Amino acid sequence: MTLHHHPADDARPAEPRTLAEATDLVATPDLAPSADGMFGTYGGAVLPPQLAGPMREVAEAYAQARHDPEFYAEYARLLRDVVGHPPPLTPLERLSDELGGARIVLKREDLNHTGAHKINHTLGEALLARRMGKRAVVAETGAGQHGVALATAAALVGLDCEIHMGAIDVAKQHPNVVRMRLLGAKVVSVEKEDRSLKEAVDSAFEVYAAHPERYLFAIGSVVGPHPFPTMVRDFQAVVGREARAQFQARYGALPDAVVACVGGGSNAMGAFTAFLDDADVRLIGVEPGGRSDATGEHAMTMTRGMDGVIHGMATLALQDGEGVPDPVHSIASGLDYPGVGPQHARFAQLGRVEYVAEDDAAVLDAFQRLARLEGILPALESAHAVARAIRLAPQLGADRRILVNLSGRGDKDVDFVARTLGLTGEADEVVR
Ligand SMILES: *Cc1c(COP(=O)(O)O)cnc(C)c1O
Repeated sequence: MTLHHHPADDARPAEPRTLAEATDLVATPDLAPSADGMFGTYGGAVLPPQLAGPMREVAEAYAQARHDPEFYAEYARLLRDVVGHPPPLTPLERLSDELGGARIVLKREDLNHTGAHKINHTLGEALLARRMGKRAVVAETGAGQHGVALATAAALVGLDCEIHMGAIDVAKQHPNVVRMRLLGAKVVSVEKEDRSLKEAVDSAFEVYAAHPERYLFAIGSVVGPHPFPTMVRDFQAVVGREARAQFQARYGALPDAVVACVGGGSNAMGAFTAFLDDADVRLIGVEPGGRSDATGEHAMTMTRGMDGVIHGMATLALQDGEGVPDPVHSIASGLDYPGVGPQHARFAQLGRVEYVAEDDAAVLDAFQRLARLEGILPALESAHAVARAIRLAPQLGADRRILVNLSGRGDKDVDFVARTLGLTGEADEVVR
């Protein structure tokens, strides 16, 4: 028994043997999904007939896999041996000293193999595909982060991988295209209509619908039709589970607040799930406020969205009266999504999670402070969560602690940030 005992611990097995045991840890009514993937009125599977059957097959296979000890053992082994779990907690001493107030502590998902949290769920998806007897995984990617994480997992597990990208993104994301190809993935450039992410989604779905016996469609966040919001949550829940145990071991207490950025919502859901029953822990999701609150200048789905249907799920979405998604912007390409995971929509409705926004300027400031005071270059996505912690810390007492999920590292963003700040690649001083 720990000094600070929490009621939520009673229901939890110390050493889970299956994914179900590891993730069915939410005892509070309403905070867990139903067996058919409903989160209150959100979620579900809103699909054309040719996709309904294949998606049901995935749901049935996953429902079994999450109770299989061998499936869990393999997933846990790969997380440990390849991804490097558990990454440490890092207390931010210099930044916290400068701010005054609460201490900020990072969960370092940026130290994972491939540099972000996405590998946690792409590995799980690849393992499920192999278990289902599929030969390949297929997906779309915008900036390329999901594509690289999925190509990595496919190589590791021994599957073919096919990534669809809008032709404009293929041109823009050259390094990630090269990475995917080096990892053995086939990259498909979609030259239709706007040549953007939307066309890539349709193109990948077309391939999947034509050959569901060959492929698993691997979704990149807690979004899309059932079972993906639940399944991706389960694969990401390791983040909060580890952080909660690390926090208790180190401080003998839980954090006062857990902060994570929200695009589709997978890293936030991963960080929050273990804390849902801890009513005294504030959970805060941070959306991209972008340049302004005008349509097309932000991606504040939680704070500005309306009930709608997008990408096979009922959720909050930024769209017009006809259901056409609005254009969105964020300084972080991983956050510019006009929908959001249905469980987040439910948490907002129930008031369990606070959803707030940080704009591009605050994010750039957070990026620089973390770099100069702590020696960490964060992903611009993750810098949204850091920006909120910087705002929150001075409002809380010095005996308080804020846990920030640092979802990824910023190597991918350094050229963009340097250009934005007017910092050139030239030396500061020349000696001859
Ligand atoms: C993709 C990405 C995100 C956004 O995705 P979520 O599903 O909202 O977590 C956040 N951080 C990083 C580093 C990413 O690569």
